[in-house]
Amino acid sequence: MSEADTLSLTEQLQRGFHGLRFEGQLEAAWRRDQFRERLRYLRINLALLAAIGLAVIEVDRVVMPAIGGIVPDLARVGVMLPLLLAGFAVTFTRRADTWYPRYIAIAMTAALAAMSWVSIAAFTGGEPRVFPRVLLAMVAVYFVLGLPFRSAIAVNALGVAAFAAIAAVKGMPTTDLAHFLLALAITNVICVAGAWNLEHARRTAWLEGQRLAETAMQDGLTGIHNRRRFDDRLQRTWAQAVRERRPLALLLADIDHFKAFNDRYGHQAGDEALKAVAEVLSRFARRPLDLAARYGGEEFAVILFDAKRGDAERIAGEILEAVRRLGIVHQDSAAAPVLTISIGIACVQPAVRRSWSGLVQLADQALYAAKDGGRNRAVALEREYEHMQTGYFHRIGTSRQEPGEGQ
Ligand code: GH3
Ligand code: MG
Ligand code: MG
Repeated sequence: MSEADTLSLTEQLQRGFHGLRFEGQLEAAWRRDQFRERLRYLRINLALLAAIGLAVIEVDRVVMPAIGGIVPDLARVGVMLPLLLAGFAVTFTRRADTWYPRYIAIAMTAALAAMSWVSIAAFTGGEPRVFPRVLLAMVAVYFVLGLPFRSAIAVNALGVAAFAAIAAVKGMPTTDLAHFLLALAITNVICVAGAWNLEHARRTAWLEGQRLAETAMQDGLTGIHNRRRFDDRLQRTWAQAVRERRPLALLLADIDHFKAFNDRYGHQAGDEALKAVAEVLSRFARRPLDLAARYGGEEFAVILFDAKRGDAERIAGEILEAVRRLGIVHQDSAAAPVLTISIGIACVQPAVRRSWSGLVQLADQALYAAKDGGRNRAVALEREYEHMQTGYFHRIGTSRQEPGEGQ
């Protein structure tokens, strides 16, 4: 699920989903997840149903020989096995999450109609014991075949309609038909209540799980993405940039003389300043694959996908200006009378033999250079990434200022 859905997750939980349907993208995401999660059990269920079906046909030879006069065993096997096997096969297709429910809905509607026909034919031939199997098949539609609640209702409603139509055509006495329809109705009412509760609980648990996962990727103070999300996204964006041969830029920003700011104005004011800076940075992660995150403490990172050096420098300049324009007074800053940041810019052409951590190192080096150069500025290292060894970190002749130093 994309990060953009976070808001809708919370809203959906608050608003509820009484029709057992989420809004927008969420519904598709839920169906995909559910299908994947239950896939293994679904396959086991299909195999079990086939085994039970075959066993029942064997048992019927002994206890219900009359059924053989209505449908030959071979026809029963010939319909049931291909239907289930095809369902099994569909679960292996690439878009199984959308195709399987459609397939099984159609297959089960047909199966219910066929079972109705057999049970009505058996009943009129003096064998009433086939009918309960129609009820069992409907229970399976609700609980074991992996159909969403609404689809299960639709399939069983069609099944009941087929039963009534076939019974009418076969001239079943009205009192008998009423008796069977009552049994079908009661079974469906009970199952609908159970299936509704089950799906409601599953949906709630899924929403909460998703929200929890989102929260774990969010910075508690500023609300923007946190380091965990940053690491995850940088790796993925890196891989995408390699595949698509696009350049990738990384900005590492650090608030200037922030310790002094805290010391003078207090930590609460410091927190407010962090939030304001975070808000500015997140405004500049405009495109879908861009990302602004709190890297740690008073450091932030912005990933710019498909950004060349010129783009990255222009955006960094705009960010510097936007932070200055916040106008947060900082009397103890040697860089400016207001709160400022320094930005290290790294631009690379990702390739398989390089690693994303090298990009972070490069941006970090650039950030040191920006600090060294007087702060309140953005620096892109002249040095080519080509010459940099991944895992090798050299502080280009300067050291980072320790707290208290140079303030
Ligand atoms: P420089 O310009 O070299 O970056 O100096 P600096 O003072 O900003 O850097 P330094 O690393 O010495 O201090 C970072 C400060 O950021 C110290 C710490 O108290 C503050 N800080 C880190 N996280 C938070 C936070 O969540 N809230 C507040 N209020 N302050 C924070
Ligand atoms: Mg810092
Ligand atoms: Mg700092």
